[in-house]
Amino acid sequence: MGQDDFFDVIVAGGGLNGPALALALAGAGLSVAVVDAQPPRSRADAGFDGRAYALAIASQKLLSVIGTWPAVAERAQPLREVRAHDGHAGEGAAMFGLQFDSAELDGGPVGYMLEDRHLYSAFQDALDASPSITMIAGTSVLSQTASASGISVMLSNGRELTGRVLIGADGRRSGVAERAGIKRRGWGYGQTALVCALEHDLPHDGIAHQFFMPTGPLAILPLTGNRCSIVWSEKDSNARALAALPDEDFLGMLRPRFGDFLGEIRLASPRFSYPLTLTLAEEYVAPRLALVGDAAHGVHPIAGQGLNLGLRDVGALAEVLVEAHRRGEDIGAADVLERYQRWRRFDSTAMALGMDAVNKLFSNNNPLLRAGRDLGMGLVQALPGLRRRFMREAAGMRAGQPRLLQGRAL
Ligand SMILES: Cc1cc2nc3c(=O)[nH]c(=O)nc-3n(C[C@H](O)[C@H](O)[C@H](O)COP(=O)(O)OP(=O)(O)OC[C@H]3O[C@@H](n4cnc5c(N)ncnc54)[C@H](O)[C@@H]3O)c2cc1C
Repeated sequence: MGQDDFFDVIVAGGGLNGPALALALAGAGLSVAVVDAQPPRSRADAGFDGRAYALAIASQKLLSVIGTWPAVAERAQPLREVRAHDGHAGEGAAMFGLQFDSAELDGGPVGYMLEDRHLYSAFQDALDASPSITMIAGTSVLSQTASASGISVMLSNGRELTGRVLIGADGRRSGVAERAGIKRRGWGYGQTALVCALEHDLPHDGIAHQFFMPTGPLAILPLTGNRCSIVWSEKDSNARALAALPDEDFLGMLRPRFGDFLGEIRLASPRFSYPLTLTLAEEYVAPRLALVGDAAHGVHPIAGQGLNLGLRDVGALAEVLVEAHRRGEDIGAADVLERYQRWRRFDSTAMALGMDAVNKLFSNNNPLLRAGRDLGMGLVQALPGLRRRFMREAAGMRAGQPRLLQGRAL
């Protein structure tokens, strides 16, 4: 093994959270290898899948500090308002709708919508441009062996890397976690999300809508131009039938739910199905390794928090590792990694279970539950202080946030 195969940090997974962490660490002087199983740039293709993210302001701040935001800013749609409605799309404002708007966050946007392919491409460009990062694409991590001094990682191309710490950013079915014996818990929702982009005749004015319906929520999320991304969650059997329909018939089923508030709608991307499951790792660390993003917690996309949660992990882990490095500590030591776990595990699990509860509460036609949740939404709407607290929380403006999420360098 040559000098070229030693790194401070080895990241398994070059999706979104892996690259974000690599860039944060490289910016603070650590050497990083990123290994990704996908062929180079496969996700940059518009036909790969239809994902788009509702980025919280805190996530956007992190992207700014690690240098990625300028490359995506023009492709990001500012979110001016988020409206949650109980009932059916297209019926106009629900009686007890819940509304968050930018005036309550000092006039700035409440977040940004950004398509996966743009964010992914910007990360790939930044990885390639960084002299401290070695990107190894189209190659899988097959195994890992931890020792007192470091961790060695065997790749599918026969190469062996050694580092002080291995990061599992390898998604919901994390092999890094499984090989380390980390147990997971979770369940399926019996729901599948139908995801696609639409074009519409009328402007969306940067307003996102979440319609809670008995069979699952429908999110209408504004993209740049007269386009939006929909995440239409339905019971598995309904979703299978809808996915099998030709495009025009699919639109015919969507229109009554979507309503006509944006004028005529047309498909602007291929359609994708995304089975919804919850998967939580019981531990976020093991000897010489730590998990971030979906590898630690794959959540229901009901509140668009999946990537935001992952970027909070990235901010916390980068801060812990860089501080330890500057103090001359071994960055893969158990007590260093434990600091990260203490910081993040409770928050992520609470958020994941919270989203789970919201989904169960709203994917339901029980009249008592409906009355209770309508009252809850009405109360939050009626109390500006409470609403502002909800919003500041979603924007990441609360005490104890990692520095990167506050827009501060490490
Ligand atoms: C179709 C779809 C739609 C989605 N829609 C939304 C949405 O609307 N809103 C939202 O918030 N979230 C959505 N999500 C979830 C969101 O995409 C994830 O939260 C986010 O991508 C997590 O990023 P990550 O970097 O942790 O994992 P991933 O993006 O899953 O990346 C993991 C990477 O690890 C790599 N990998 C796996 N195993 C290995 C190995 N052994 N060796 C090397 N590399 C490996 C994979 O190739 C992959 O590139 C969606 C997900 C999917 C699949």
